[in-house]
Amino acid sequence: MIGLLKSMATTMRHALDGSTFTVEYPDTAPEVSPRFRGVHKFSQERCIWCRQCENVCPNDTIQIVMDEQRNGEQYNLHIGQCIYCRLCEEVCPVDAILLTQNFEFTADTKDEFALNKEELKNVPWYKDIDPLEAREPDRGGWVGEGEGELDYQ
Ligand code: SF4
Ligand code: SF4
Repeated sequence: MIGLLKSMATTMRHALDGSTFTVEYPDTAPEVSPRFRGVHKFSQERCIWCRQCENVCPNDTIQIVMDEQRNGEQYNLHIGQCIYCRLCEEVCPVDAILLTQNFEFTADTKDEFALNKEELKNVPWYKDIDPLEAREPDRGGWVGEGEGELDYQ
């Protein structure tokens, strides 16, 4: 009973002091944590087709197709089955695959969640947040500092 009264008092205090914890989405875009794991962005210019992301993915979300000379041809990612573990980003030696803060993606059918390399390249940053920059310095602790300019666009 005391717990119930305490929680009601907390609710009333916030209701009366004008504090808000929600936004009127989609009119107002919410803030997201730098560690938020949203839809991926891929850079073919950076990718060296090592296939480490495909190998580390626990549920075959990433499919890479190579030609006979082992040149990369296709990079497909079925965002509908991704569990957002971020292992692909962690293992990539050249920052070619990143999880953005972008959560705004919808589809009418399951097939539309299978994104090819062009669609992945064109995934917009959320609020212009560059996840590499936003997640420093803690990201540096697990994948190192990284080098070079990013060229996803
Ligand atoms: S975040 Fe995890 S599940 Fe999703 S594509 Fe990367 S490795 Fe696979
Ligand atoms: S781990 Fe990185 S460089 Fe290697 S295939 Fe995947 S995206 Fe390309």
